[in-house]
Amino acid sequence: MTKDEGAMIYFSHDDGLAHVNPPGHPEQVARLEAVGAALAGMDLDRRAAPLCDDAEILRCHPRAHLDRIAAAVPAEGWRALDADTSLSPGSLTAARRAVGGCVAAVDAVLAGEAKTAFVGCRPPGHHAERETPMGFCLFGNIAIAAMRALDHHGLDRVAVVDFDVHHGNGTQDLLWDEGRALFVSSHQMPLYPGTGAASERGAQDNVLNLPLAAGSGGEAMRALYEDRVFPALRDFAPDLLLISAGFDAHAADPLAGLNWSTADFGWLTGRLCDLADELCGGRIVSTLEGGYDLQALGASVAAHVAVLKERSA
Ligand SMILES: [Zn+2]
Repeated sequence: MTKDEGAMIYFSHDDGLAHVNPPGHPEQVARLEAVGAALAGMDLDRRAAPLCDDAEILRCHPRAHLDRIAAAVPAEGWRALDADTSLSPGSLTAARRAVGGCVAAVDAVLAGEAKTAFVGCRPPGHHAERETPMGFCLFGNIAIAAMRALDHHGLDRVAVVDFDVHHGNGTQDLLWDEGRALFVSSHQMPLYPGTGAASERGAQDNVLNLPLAAGSGGEAMRALYEDRVFPALRDFAPDLLLISAGFDAHAADPLAGLNWSTADFGWLTGRLCDLADELCGGRIVSTLEGGYDLQALGASVAAHVAVLKERSA
């Protein structure tokens, strides 16, 4: 572990490798290995993602949700929670690292230890609803990070930008009533999980859903972000920018049909850094969501983190 004052912080943990989905599942252990390999040569402030306390999970989920998942963890093999979402013996520990990494990243960035942080953990989180694990996700990692920033640190407003190719239905559910949080999601539509229509606006007009058509590419994405996302962020004026960084909008991804390039992820990261510089002192916490072509995932994460690192200095 290296310590480089002011450098971008990278939270991860090998416990993430102990969350094992059944053979052939796209959300595989090798994803985290691909991310680790892609970032191996970078000079980052590497920190172990801590295990979170129950209290962090309970910021967004009822006790019954945590208890249900804990009780379902199998001693060996797998236990299916739904058609897509399974537990292995190491899943709860991995999920606690994913939440803990997001919480620690918020704490570190708000303490001024770095301007930007990336959490490279799994399972992902943006599909987990208040009482429903789904879509490979158990807990709402980024929504918990948002509530940590608001309720523990006392920020007035946080924004979450979700550029995963799937709608972040879980984050939307967890932040639906929270007027101090703006949730913005771009996603292919129609696609799993089926939610994310522009008409879904949040109880406090605090949700902005921006569906993209299958087959659309980087130019359409760039125009959408310039025309809709960045003005919305300026209007909201967050004190911290959180990113649900899924890389499954990449043209090579097997689960979806957008045609973003690796360079598009770098461009988008840079523009989000521009907005963070303008609005919130450059403070960004980003966390890994999807991305299922291992080569595209590694290259896209490297492009994302390289920009975060450059802009953290
Ligand atoms: Zn996804």
